[in-house]
Amino acid sequence: MRQIRQSKKLQGVRYDVRGPILVEAQRLEAEGHRILKLNIGNTAPFGFDAPEQIVADMVHHLPKAAGYSDSKGIWSARTAVMNYYQSRGLRDVGVDDIYIGNGVSELISMVLQAFVDDGNEILVPAPDYPLWTAAVTLSGGTPVHYLCDEADGWNPDLADIEAKITENTHALVIINPNNPTGAVYSEDVVKGLVDIARRHNLVIMADEIYEKILFDDAVHHHAATYAGDDVLCLTFSGLSKAYRVCGYRAGWVMVSGPKEIATDFLEGLTLIANMRMCSNVPAQHAIQAALGGYQSIEELIVPGGRFYEQSMLADRLLNEIPGVSNVRPKGALYCFPRLDPEIYPIEDDQQFVIDLLRAKKLLITHGTGFNWPKTDHFRLVTLPDAKVLEEAIERIAHFLEMRRLG
Ligand code: PLP
Repeated sequence: MRQIRQSKKLQGVRYDVRGPILVEAQRLEAEGHRILKLNIGNTAPFGFDAPEQIVADMVHHLPKAAGYSDSKGIWSARTAVMNYYQSRGLRDVGVDDIYIGNGVSELISMVLQAFVDDGNEILVPAPDYPLWTAAVTLSGGTPVHYLCDEADGWNPDLADIEAKITENTHALVIINPNNPTGAVYSEDVVKGLVDIARRHNLVIMADEIYEKILFDDAVHHHAATYAGDDVLCLTFSGLSKAYRVCGYRAGWVMVSGPKEIATDFLEGLTLIANMRMCSNVPAQHAIQAALGGYQSIEELIVPGGRFYEQSMLADRLLNEIPGVSNVRPKGALYCFPRLDPEIYPIEDDQQFVIDLLRAKKLLITHGTGFNWPKTDHFRLVTLPDAKVLEEAIERIAHFLEMRRLG
């Protein structure tokens, strides 16, 4: 019989955080092993319950949430998002500038489908959250990776961005706070990025889903603030991380800047939104409750709070392993340490992660899975409580000790 093949569109599309490494973890689980899975930033399995206010609001609205909504989202959710950005100084944001989606993930795919033509180049950070590279590729575009500089606190290398701009470059993706590096960009860096977009007529796509997960004196600056009224900016955020409801699937994209030059693109985006009817309506109700309610995230990100303490602990313990260095995260939920290649020469980092998984029953993600060009990094999710985190890093340290040169 003829083999049924995946479409050619999927050639080169990768999403390794749930790729072959997860398949191997599931195979081991089926054999009866208990696997500690630190490959994905999913808060619920680590004892972070959804805030009660949000659950109560969803339950309250559930009986009336059985119908499709407007494809851009229910009014209360869109006004709540509008009010949020207005309160952050973005006065020109209106309710029509907001699209609600099944998480930021769906909106990234929708926006890129509406925006990218075959061969268009989109600047994406390296390392990145790999959905960006995958979704650019799937929409027919070419992801062009610009480097974030580990030696400079993982800040984007502005000269590298400039050097990679061609006449085919159409957009600049910014992930701030960053997954996987934990970098939070200063005002100057954000201004520098926006300036590049301004000078080269690029659209900014700013993924700000971790905007409320900030440590110590880190401050989040919306790219849209500096993009002003002359750079088209699409700002993505949602409830998954700051409100610990990844599974509800609730996110938004906000359009700002010279919308009059983007009417055709926005019609296309609305068409794509219409084609999928609407996003999950019960979860849309949660948006108003979340943005308008008690911000319990603030308890988690200060000293004594779990997000803060676990991030700092992971950073400290990773740095204590010989030949391992980690840039202290300023935000988000991850560490992205470097393994000194002189001490741990790694040819294939996915294989390295699979070997660790088999030996230590611990699942982390290899750096090349985030489009990092070298095989010398991995990403660790810092969501487990301190005891489990210590145990996980101990397993990594022991595994590395066995592989150490000299
Ligand atoms: N963007 C970044 C940078 C992420 O890390 C994630 C999830 O980990 C997403 C987007 C997807 O978020 P959502 O749950 O809203 O689809």
